[in-house]
Amino acid sequence: MLAVAAIASACAPGNPSGDRTEVRPAPGQQNLQAPPARALDAYATKLRAEYAARAATAKRWGLAKVPLVPPAPPAKKPRITTRKGFEVDGHRELNLPPVFTTIPTRHKIVFLTIDDGAEKDPAFLRMMSELRIPYTAFLSDYLVKEDYGYFGRMQAKGVVLNNHTLRHPYLPALSYARQKHEICGMQDVIEKRYGKRPLLFRPPFGNYNEDTLRAAKSCGVKYAPLWNEEVFVDRWEYREWDRRVHPGDIVLSHFRGKGHWKGTMSDMIRRFLNKVTAEGYAVARLEDYL
Ligand SMILES: [Zn+2]
Repeated sequence: MLAVAAIASACAPGNPSGDRTEVRPAPGQQNLQAPPARALDAYATKLRAEYAARAATAKRWGLAKVPLVPPAPPAKKPRITTRKGFEVDGHRELNLPPVFTTIPTRHKIVFLTIDDGAEKDPAFLRMMSELRIPYTAFLSDYLVKEDYGYFGRMQAKGVVLNNHTLRHPYLPALSYARQKHEICGMQDVIEKRYGKRPLLFRPPFGNYNEDTLRAAKSCGVKYAPLWNEEVFVDRWEYREWDRRVHPGDIVLSHFRGKGHWKGTMSDMIRRFLNKVTAEGYAVARLEDYL
């Protein structure tokens, strides 16, 4: 108690034995100016500390720059419509899930989606939660069932697990009934294993027809997001002729490791983040915009 009291009095204003020179505000000004100034100063200190922590984390994971922080989720969600040229017969009349590659937004943000589920790398889960980079997973049961627990740990970190069929077939070649089995079967697997029925479905290879979207709708799918860019461990690929990233673009990658491409999941994330950060984009959470 004595030690605490001594420290407290050493810092107290007007302490005669203190070696710091006191600047006394003019009478009547104390209550007006002192508290906001102190609050702002504390806030600035907190921001600096947070940035220093983020910079240290980025450096530890080998990033060229500190990832940008996305804006707060929109209060009013954008209206999602099917991209021109991506409609199926009766798309609007049947109110089928919209197929899109970009979220309408004026912010410089992109959305990361990761597909299939072959690689189950614990370092990747650590990297993404330490860097606080959101992403959305599209899972195919024939790969996920090798280790349901890995994707459970991913979900526990706040990642939404979505539908990418049971066995990753080329859906347009299948009958309505077989497509329904592939899509609705995976809805059931995710609900049973992870407690939540997905709202998002991505057709394997991005290939679909009217039956695909009718089947998806019949078992609770609301959205069918595709992608506008794809990032690999060693390169980017683009859907658009301008070969650029645009605000609101959905970026595709895959759960792949050294057995599938020349590097780890972390190498792929470095390639992804280094480009988007250098171009002034932050990574936002897809579900916040749907
Ligand atoms: Zn896939």
